[in-house]
Amino acid sequence: MSPIVSLNTLISLDIRTLAKSRLLIDGKKFKISWSRNSLVVKRMELFAQNNGLFVRGLDEGDHPFGRGSESGFLGITYTDCFFGGSRPWFRCPVEDCSRKAAILYYADRLVCRHCVRGFFPSQRANKYERLVDRLNHLKARIGLAPTDDLALARKPKGMHTSSFFELKSEASRLEERCLEVWCRSYDALSNNG
Ligand SMILES: [Zn+2]
Repeated sequence: MSPIVSLNTLISLDIRTLAKSRLLIDGKKFKISWSRNSLVVKRMELFAQNNGLFVRGLDEGDHPFGRGSESGFLGITYTDCFFGGSRPWFRCPVEDCSRKAAILYYADRLVCRHCVRGFFPSQRANKYERLVDRLNHLKARIGLAPTDDLALARKPKGMHTSSFFELKSEASRLEERCLEVWCRSYDALSNNG
């Protein structure tokens, strides 16, 4: 079964990147912003304290995605490495989940890959999935893996330049559509409760 949500198109937070940049140390305060097609889609402020991160969504985004002012706490746990030292993991903040995760995904708050799917009403999920399938198909035609950024696309050998740019801009439009459908899923969810 193919995944309902293509995780690479979502806003995500990788704890390994944060650890590498030494941002998990108590007292560190920093902001992260995510953008697509040079549009800021989400901004968050994070504060490392008490073996975790306090997260606050900022209303500065240019995109409907950016308007949330949600806040929460992400617990961090450590496991020992075979060669010494330890590595950090997020604890999924969804109550009956608490899975260890290296990457969290944004679905009105940051959750693990298992939980992110639960945030989609299935009808919208199907629509989203179809869009993502089309997007991934277009990406493949211009030599990209689903996880690759569109900006990395290079014209494949033998393809006309004009065809290449057409495919690339079509993929870019689809990416925006995916975000729209995703945003509307939030609206539907928040209106329901
Ligand atoms: Zn979870």
